[in-house]
Amino acid sequence: MEAFTHTKIIATLGPASADEDTIRALIRAGADCFRINFSHGDGPSHLPLIESARRAIAKENRHIPLMADIQGPKLRIGLVPPEGLELRPGARFTLTTDASVPSPERVQADYPYLTRDVRAGMRILLDDGLLELLVEKVTATDVQTTVTAGGMLYSRKGINFPGAQLSVQSLTEKDRSDLLFVADCPDLDMVAISFVRSSHDLSQARALLGNRRKIPVMAKLERPEALEHLSDILDHSDGIMVARGDLGVELAFDRVPLLQKEILRRAAERGKWAIVATQMLESMRSHPRPTRAEASDVANAILDGADAIMLSVETASGLYPVKSVEAMEQIARTTESVGENKEQRLEMDLISFASGAAGAAVQAARELKARAIVTLAGSGLTALMVSKWRPSLPILALSASEPTLRRLNVLYGVIPVPLAQLGDMETQIQAADAFLVETGLARSGDPVVIVAAIPLGEKRETNTIRFHKIRDF
Ligand code: PEP
Repeated sequence: MEAFTHTKIIATLGPASADEDTIRALIRAGADCFRINFSHGDGPSHLPLIESARRAIAKENRHIPLMADIQGPKLRIGLVPPEGLELRPGARFTLTTDASVPSPERVQADYPYLTRDVRAGMRILLDDGLLELLVEKVTATDVQTTVTAGGMLYSRKGINFPGAQLSVQSLTEKDRSDLLFVADCPDLDMVAISFVRSSHDLSQARALLGNRRKIPVMAKLERPEALEHLSDILDHSDGIMVARGDLGVELAFDRVPLLQKEILRRAAERGKWAIVATQMLESMRSHPRPTRAEASDVANAILDGADAIMLSVETASGLYPVKSVEAMEQIARTTESVGENKEQRLEMDLISFASGAAGAAVQAARELKARAIVTLAGSGLTALMVSKWRPSLPILALSASEPTLRRLNVLYGVIPVPLAQLGDMETQIQAADAFLVETGLARSGDPVVIVAAIPLGEKRETNTIRFHKIRDF
């Protein structure tokens, strides 16, 4: 039988992976979703990349979604000389809102509320926490600091103010125009919103998506406030991303491992989709193999319950984008092959026909030693629920709608199967049989479990489980 990996891989596209051939190679290596990082450039500047990805995906005959990652209020320093500035421990260094006088000791920050939000005694982190400043004095335009952790500082590096209540809005002007761009671009299938603080940010984003407000919206968890409002954020999003880069800077880095476990558990209990992101195979930016610690981190994210694991710089600007996906796929396959998958439970108020039928189907499939669970065409809710029960079998999800097929491709264990036309139940079962045999996932005579909402096409809740043996071909 064909090898099959349940955990989905998201690969960020960028200069190292912008051409069609590399994107095709990423797909063949195991990428299931591509992320386009809107931190760099405005909407229209991404069109060549979006078109190149769509051409590559069509040539590989796959249903792969593109996820627009909206920058959010990421605060950055302005420009410094190309060779960078050396910040020595103990030296004085000033961040200013005054654009006119850059110097080696005084650099602009692109944050108008800088001097309002910062107080003497606070810590400021630069470049994902690599450099640290201690605030000594705040004037109308300047924040005067002492360097407490030194190093080289380069243009446009991020600034974090751990623990500060920031006045900046969660959706910036740029975010608003990027969301309007997504609303008009049917080639983008999902949206991730950065630095979410409450469900209000997600409602605002959906409002800007207008007619496309129902496309999946992922909340990136990287601010302490988001953790305080996690239940509300889970209820208002389709899923979450443990955005460990900024999370581990906004909060102490030693808190990240346990937070990751807790966030993934709570997302699973609410029936939401969860991604673990950032620095998963960081050393593969410049090396063809991961470190053992990175392999362990990827495996632990899967064991913690991640539906998808994400590559950032590794595929966007690293030297080995395809090898990075191959390594991730290999780690995922090995991790999934040992032991039973961790069964997940939903919170009581989510128990419904759909979740009950999904749980019963997974249990029956185990008893029957079925080769697959097949969910017939619908909104994808049945496939989501089956996926949440973490069966070790492939979950086929049939649909005649391309946008639905693409979204289904990010669910743990789900394989989207296109239908030429909707057809009745028997026609759909035949299509599933043919797919299973053609792809080598099963053989004629193998049992499969079918889960559906009958009558098909009437938007009913999942209500039927059927056992079936794959017909002869
Ligand atoms: C992160 O901070 O981990 C993250 C995914 O966000 P970005 O890469 O957009 O900064």
